[in-house]
Amino acid sequence: MTVSASVSTAKGRVLIVGATGFIGQFVAEASLGAGRPTYVLVRPGPVGGCPSKGSTIRALQDKGATILHGLINDKEFMEKILKEHEIDIVISAVGGGNILDQLTLIEAIKTVGTIKRFLPSEFGHDVDRADPVEPGLNMYKDKRRIRRLLEEYGVPHTYICCNSIASWPYYDNTHPSEVVPPLDQFQIYGDGSVKAYFVAGTDIGKFTIKTIDDIRALNKNVHFRPASNLYNINELASLWERKIGRTLPRVTVSENDLLAAAAENCIPQSIVASFTHDIFIKGCQVNFTIDGPQDIEVGALYPDETFRTLDECFNDFLLKMDDIKSMSNAEITAATPVAEPMAITATTC
Ligand code: NDP
Repeated sequence: MTVSASVSTAKGRVLIVGATGFIGQFVAEASLGAGRPTYVLVRPGPVGGCPSKGSTIRALQDKGATILHGLINDKEFMEKILKEHEIDIVISAVGGGNILDQLTLIEAIKTVGTIKRFLPSEFGHDVDRADPVEPGLNMYKDKRRIRRLLEEYGVPHTYICCNSIASWPYYDNTHPSEVVPPLDQFQIYGDGSVKAYFVAGTDIGKFTIKTIDDIRALNKNVHFRPASNLYNINELASLWERKIGRTLPRVTVSENDLLAAAAENCIPQSIVASFTHDIFIKGCQVNFTIDGPQDIEVGALYPDETFRTLDECFNDFLLKMDDIKSMSNAEITAATPVAEPMAITATTC
């Protein structure tokens, strides 16, 4: 199905929250790349303690972003900046542990009354449909609460349901695309036959920005289902084997293994385990049709736009490996865990 175009040509001022984070960076880059006046809210904190945060901020600034410092859970501050900078669109990409901070932001948006669109921090599954085990369910309950408040207040919104980031879906890693796929063995979830959609981070950013003043995406769940990127984990393993030119052993991670990892309640790994169970055992990305009044598929909105294929994304990992190889062995040992699937940002166990 193709939906007739109804895209505004005016470029509203965009405020992005969480642009120093994993998903937020893609969104901020896309906003700047689309030539939109882009404001980035940076949480005050020790940039020195996280050098990549400082360089991300500088890079966004160099591309034209206006940097503001503050917290979304400071209502007066948020009202002030929304008014002062005449913000039209707010996109939040706060992390899973901060979803409820958006409650205060929504109060500020309601009070100001001029925001034309708010995109809450979703960027995954349709949280009203997916039903993971705990502790993933708890995050979805928070995301559902945010949805209900927006709907109650009549805040114009779009929910981005972009499915999985293009990468090897390590069951214990919140940001798997930062890590090269396996080089020793594949862990196959269940029988490895359940499919999922894998979307490049740059496409998550690009298509998110396309929706923000598209009337057809107003108050909709926008689902990302690129047919070219629908893979099960056995197919994903074969794709990577073709890239690296060798086969790897496959070991099974059973449904019970994933449930046990979830039940350990190590945050965030257990949250990822519960989502992995939902995706690759229960099929939460593919076990429903998107034909409800609130649903729209991004390909139907922008039929002329292409997605980066998973094949291309896996080529990027090969290049990353070449870069790593060109470093000295000492540097590799010290700094770069090539096949180590553990780039987890915050761990509370
Ligand atoms: P990150 O933890 O990487 O980044 C969160 C960002 O939000 C950081 O920039 C952080 O600032 C900022 N932030 C947090 N709290 C506040 C606050 N109160 N005020 C202002 N800024 C704040 O998040 P992710 O990118 O991992 O997650 C973003 C969304 O994407 C989530 O909804 C998550 O569920 C989803 N996601 C989807 C994935 C997929 O495969 N589809 C993969 C990963 C996430 P600071 O830099 O100071 O920490």
